[in-house]
Amino acid sequence: MEKLGIAIIGGGPAGLAAGIYAVRGGADVKLFEELFPGGQIVKTHRVENYPGFTGGPDGYALAAALEKHASEFDLPVIYGAVTDLKLTEGEKTFAVNGEEYAADAVILAMGAGPRKLGHPDEDRFVGTGVSYCATCDGNFYRNKDVAIVGGGDTAVSDALYLSGLCRKVYLIHRRDQFRAAATLVDRVKRAENVELVLDSTVVGLSGEDRLSAVTVENKFTHEQRTLDVNGLFVAVGILPRTELVKGQIDLDESGFIVTDKFMQTSAPGVFAAGDIRNTPLRQVVTACADGAIAATKAVEYVGMK
Ligand SMILES: Cc1cc2nc3c(=O)[nH]c(=O)nc-3n(C[C@H](O)[C@H](O)[C@H](O)COP(=O)(O)OP(=O)(O)OC[C@H]3O[C@@H](n4cnc5c(N)ncnc54)[C@H](O)[C@@H]3O)c2cc1C
Repeated sequence: MEKLGIAIIGGGPAGLAAGIYAVRGGADVKLFEELFPGGQIVKTHRVENYPGFTGGPDGYALAAALEKHASEFDLPVIYGAVTDLKLTEGEKTFAVNGEEYAADAVILAMGAGPRKLGHPDEDRFVGTGVSYCATCDGNFYRNKDVAIVGGGDTAVSDALYLSGLCRKVYLIHRRDQFRAAATLVDRVKRAENVELVLDSTVVGLSGEDRLSAVTVENKFTHEQRTLDVNGLFVAVGILPRTELVKGQIDLDESGFIVTDKFMQTSAPGVFAAGDIRNTPLRQVVTACADGAIAATKAVEYVGMK
């Protein structure tokens, strides 16, 4: 069994930032990534809001820059899925590619993924009209017509955000009441360019190379209506990748890892960073910041053992 000071699980922005800080902090660290470095960010065409990267680099370019930065510090990266993670009081153990590892501290940076709508044509239009992130992609639909589907805080606040950029916003919700905060709902009802499409579900996505229309159906009347839109923002939930840690550390009611401001979870020596934790903003900038804090505190923790 190989013994490490710090193990970082996940090579997205949070994990790579944690890696840079852990190596610079002098830790004996390895990062484990099951797919490719960069995480979710590789799924987007342009990242316009990561400070210091002007001109809106594509997601691959930003991921490559993060990886290059980590490799300049010789961060060891092992490609393979972490399994059998046991967050015991002392050493934490896990397996990757059939090898067993133990670490004094673990940084959980496995990220999250959007809950999908479940429409058969959804995947065809991802990146060409279907988006799961209004903050990230809204600007590409400036002065265009878009729809957003969902009924919680994210959907309603995204509808408000998009109403400031887009010509017209349809907010599609399967019920007639929103789960979002009352103040947000009041504001969206007053927004002049937002039309509420209630008691309705998305039944069709159409377009040639790009999405050009969304068909909705009223669940009571079964009447169908086609909305001519350039974009559909799906905000029906986000799923944290916490399968490895369920039952071992505290999660919030939505399944995200609960941390304090030092990214410390409920288990000693176990830190979490980025989209996987109960953070108010899931972006590259916050994931990197979390990773930096988690690594700094993990280095301190290992040093005190
Ligand atoms: C379409 C889209 C567009 C976006 N656009 C923007 C944008 O413009 N600006 C912005 O700031 N943010 C954007 N975001 C959000 C941003 O990508 C995330 O906030 C950020 O990637 C979170 O980083 P993370 O490291 O916490 O998690 P992730 O990026 O999710 O990385 C987690 C990593 O962990 C790995 N992993 C998971 N489980 C295991 C395991 N068991 N073993 C090993 N590895 C594992 C995954 O393969 C993944 O690489 C966008 C997101 C999406 C989906």
